[in-house]
Amino acid sequence: MDLCERSPSYIRAIAPYQPGKPISELAREMGLDEKKIIKLASNENPLGVSPKAKAAIKKALPELGRYPDGNAFELKAALARRYGVPEECIVVGNGSNDLLEMAAGVFLAPGRAAVYSQHAFAVYPLATQARGAKSIVVPARNYGHDLPAMLAAITPETRVVFIANPNNPTGTFVPGPELEDFLARAPRDVAVVIDEAYTEYLPPELRYDSVAWLKKYPNLVLTRTFSKVYGLAGLRVGFGLMHPHVADLFNRVRQPFNVNSLALAAATAALADKKFVAKSHNMNRTGMARLERGFKALGLEYIPSCANFVSFCVPRRGDKPRADRVYEELLRQGIIVRPVTGYGMPDHLRVTVGTPKQNEKFLKALDTALEA
Ligand code: PMP
Repeated sequence: MDLCERSPSYIRAIAPYQPGKPISELAREMGLDEKKIIKLASNENPLGVSPKAKAAIKKALPELGRYPDGNAFELKAALARRYGVPEECIVVGNGSNDLLEMAAGVFLAPGRAAVYSQHAFAVYPLATQARGAKSIVVPARNYGHDLPAMLAAITPETRVVFIANPNNPTGTFVPGPELEDFLARAPRDVAVVIDEAYTEYLPPELRYDSVAWLKKYPNLVLTRTFSKVYGLAGLRVGFGLMHPHVADLFNRVRQPFNVNSLALAAATAALADKKFVAKSHNMNRTGMARLERGFKALGLEYIPSCANFVSFCVPRRGDKPRADRVYEELLRQGIIVRPVTGYGMPDHLRVTVGTPKQNEKFLKALDTALEA
């Protein structure tokens, strides 16, 4: 028998994650100057790395010959102070993606199930399938999570519910009280993973204190990242907040040195760079408003978003979807956005909010691309 056929069928059935197209790849394919390419495809921070994080990275360089601190002492201490939780409640990850994988590794296996929403972040199906567990996909309501339906979808086999708030790629948001209501009703032996990768982008009036819920709901797992507002996507660092007993399980499946030294140093510094976070947040809000105005001017529908990206609808010509065509036209003009057909949204494209200049260039290019 072929070696690859020895791999479990549920592994072979996985459809690999499709990342946004890297700038270097587009430059090679189209013979474009890398410097002129604008990537708005991966919800990265257009301001790049925070100055404090940059300084910390420089300082950490001479120690790269050593293994990182496997217990992430300093980063955990800083997070414990910031969120007012004991360090035993914190698990660090190689991006928050790592935490989602750990949640699956700890609770899922063949014969078990995870509940998540239609159009939810792609890692939930991937992590579920990699454990041979069943996916229970709950139809979305107006592209967002339908929490009552998700609650009703929980079966005796269900061990995890994944909720992205805000969700990627829809940008939809569930208000705090509705989330807490879900937690209050969910069985206590089902882990509720609330993925808050974009939480720092929420406008003040929508913020909610999920960390305070940890005391009441020992089945709650919160995941956060340094990849977005903190500008450290390339370093891969995130963290989870959860009951110490659950954290203990996560640490059993966590690789010993899953967060590298530069990431640990940079994340600790980035957490303290409040000025950078505020600037990133404000620029995002202004940029989002600009994109919304731009879509309206172009007569395009979009899904109102609470994150640092927005998905807009490309009108069909006849009954033919045209999002792919517009994506290609944008590429030709050196602008990378994200097709979301894999999320069951073949008529949409997702664009990350850029700098003011990038947003203007994108809107102009989109106008041209729509004409093509
Ligand atoms: N959750 C959501 C909803 C995301 O969109 C992403 C990144 N695309 C992640 C988690 C993972 O990000 P990271 O691993 O960089 O923290």
